[in-house]
Amino acid sequence: MGIIICQSCNKTIDVFEGEKVTKLYAKGNGCTHCKQTEQKK
Ligand SMILES: [Zn+2]
Repeated sequence: MGIIICQSCNKTIDVFEGEKVTKLYAKGNGCTHCKQTEQKK
């Protein structure tokens, strides 16, 4: 399986099925978690 990691917080934000173990860093400025954190500031 593969995992998608947020570049900003290094958390796993999504997983997908696949034959190989793959790590992908999410493009853009952070995940939903990061955006929610920013809004609280
Ligand atoms: Zn994040």
